[in-house]
Amino acid sequence: MLQVRNLDLSYGDAQALDGVSLDVPAGAIVAIVGANGAGKTSLIRTIAGMLRPSRGEILWKGRDIAGQPSHVVCDLGVGQVAEGRQVFPTLSVRENLLMGSMLARGRARRAANLERMFAMFPRLADRHAQLAGTLSGGEQQMLAIARCLMGEPELVMFDEPSLGLSPAMVQQVLGAVVELNRAGLTCVLVEQNVAVSLRLASRAYVLENGRVTLSGAGRDLLEDDRVRQAYLGL
Ligand code: ATP
Repeated sequence: MLQVRNLDLSYGDAQALDGVSLDVPAGAIVAIVGANGAGKTSLIRTIAGMLRPSRGEILWKGRDIAGQPSHVVCDLGVGQVAEGRQVFPTLSVRENLLMGSMLARGRARRAANLERMFAMFPRLADRHAQLAGTLSGGEQQMLAIARCLMGEPELVMFDEPSLGLSPAMVQQVLGAVVELNRAGLTCVLVEQNVAVSLRLASRAYVLENGRVTLSGAGRDLLEDDRVRQAYLGL
């Protein structure tokens, strides 16, 4: 569904991605693992059209979308839930959700999708009129996910969705990712909780200094000595 080929990205003289290639099959959960500064967020933002690569292809269902603006990429069905949630703090929960359906793709079924989100995340329904900035961290993460889903994406890239959440909330958020995947959503998961993300992922890539250094089935990487030493402290 998504194929990244030889992607390079630089911030001025500093190269953040160096020849990155990866495949995301339809229906999969693909994990991207790496230390701080490895380039995970840069990769997601480049695929999402927020950063322009200096080289390489991003094939979405066979069409090269590299360098397309983010609203075009989003309207083609590629969604992202950004690191740090980034809800609109002074808008209500309902208004935040509606902001997720501004593009053509999600606009037609806006009302139905709003009801679907409230059914999927009852906590958001309870708090529909509350300002998003006053929600707990976990609730804000749910809102960020639901807002993304309002755009009817076929693939969602989740950047550190459990960062800073309590253990119970981490379970809920990752549980939501698994449920969405079971319902047909293709997922790219960047997660500081490496063991959990490898367990969930059918395929995983290890990113180091902007390069893919290892890839394979999530469960195989979980057994790999290099991964165990570097990321699992074993
Ligand atoms: P983290 O887990 O800490 O978010 P990451 O794997 O997502 O790390 P990136 O945020 O993609 O890594 O950063 C990759 C490299 O690019 C780092 O060396 C970082 O300092 C650099 N970088 C990221 N954003 C910018 C920017 N806006 N300007 C300059 N350099 C940047």
